[in-house]
Amino acid sequence: MTQSLKQAGNYRLRDVLRQMTADADPSLVERQEDGSVRCFACGHRCLVRPSREGICRVRLNCDGTLKVPYGYVAGLACDPIEKKPFNHVLPGTDIVTFGMLGCDFHCGYCQNWVTSQALRDPEAGTRVQEVTPEQIVEIARRYGAPAVASSYNEPLITSEWAAAIFREARAAGLRCCYISNGNATPEVLRFLRPLVDCYKVDLKSFNDKHYRELGGVLDNVVETIRNLKQMGFWVEIVTLLVPTFNNDPDEIRQMAAFLASVDPLMPWHITAFHSDYKMDSTPNTTAEDLLAAGEIARAEGMKYVYLGNLPGRLGNWEDTSCHGCGKCLIRRRGFVVIENLMPADGRCPDCGTVVPGIWS
Ligand code: SF4
Repeated sequence: MTQSLKQAGNYRLRDVLRQMTADADPSLVERQEDGSVRCFACGHRCLVRPSREGICRVRLNCDGTLKVPYGYVAGLACDPIEKKPFNHVLPGTDIVTFGMLGCDFHCGYCQNWVTSQALRDPEAGTRVQEVTPEQIVEIARRYGAPAVASSYNEPLITSEWAAAIFREARAAGLRCCYISNGNATPEVLRFLRPLVDCYKVDLKSFNDKHYRELGGVLDNVVETIRNLKQMGFWVEIVTLLVPTFNNDPDEIRQMAAFLASVDPLMPWHITAFHSDYKMDSTPNTTAEDLLAAGEIARAEGMKYVYLGNLPGRLGNWEDTSCHGCGKCLIRRRGFVVIENLMPADGRCPDCGTVVPGIWS
């Protein structure tokens, strides 16, 4: 890992980041005759005028060329894969996770706001460190991690950098994952498809007005989930259950019905909110709130519903049980796998039903 770029007395994050760029992938940009560029890396599809930046504030039009973040991380850690969360991917293993700065949303309850809002909020911001894709893959090798993930900020807006790392990771036999808000476009999903195995989508609400408060559009996320499944990504969904924001039973039912219409076997993690960032007076989600949401999800047909962020207080809702016969195949508490009886081919040893996932 190289030295920090933060220099006492002359640190200006935006200026530093503007030095750490590459050209956008040609499939993610369209030049206009007037020198503007259209960006396709996320669902905002910004028309970026000369010398301006997109809504994410990290993709810039420099003399008619879309420059995009490249060559640094703002966060790098080796975490349990259950923390991402993926419950149907290589259970009990570690995943090297990297993130950059910036986001195309501005969620008031963001739990990664120090990095995601670094270019919007003067209270946010963190050091960045230069790094190469080879160094990240080497860290995965050193820690015995079979996978790498782009997370902490919104990976779609920094897709070229993730792709550079994933090319190295794939060559080293690693799985590659996106931890994303799902505000994608068909163009960026086609760009990612050869490189990304697993895609986690944060379905934040089923109310478009609420999505717009966060800076998004519900239809974009719904369309992304459909497209990911059609294109053959491994997909898990997460919903952070936020009291007064998305915990209305009717809204949970609508989310569940939509997800079941896409694939009732797709894992859905419903997790507890804790007061954070601009929503520090909103009450924490209780175990009872989560259990009620889980029952609704199951009643709508979802087979692999997981409740999270309150380890040990959620009965067997942290475990994986075969949807054919109910046999418990993986027992968990929080991010810890206590027992793993899942065969490498995902076939239930009792009834032979195949549990979908990437098990080896
Ligand atoms: S990544 Fe999204 S927000 Fe950023 S410039 Fe491209 S379309 Fe706009």
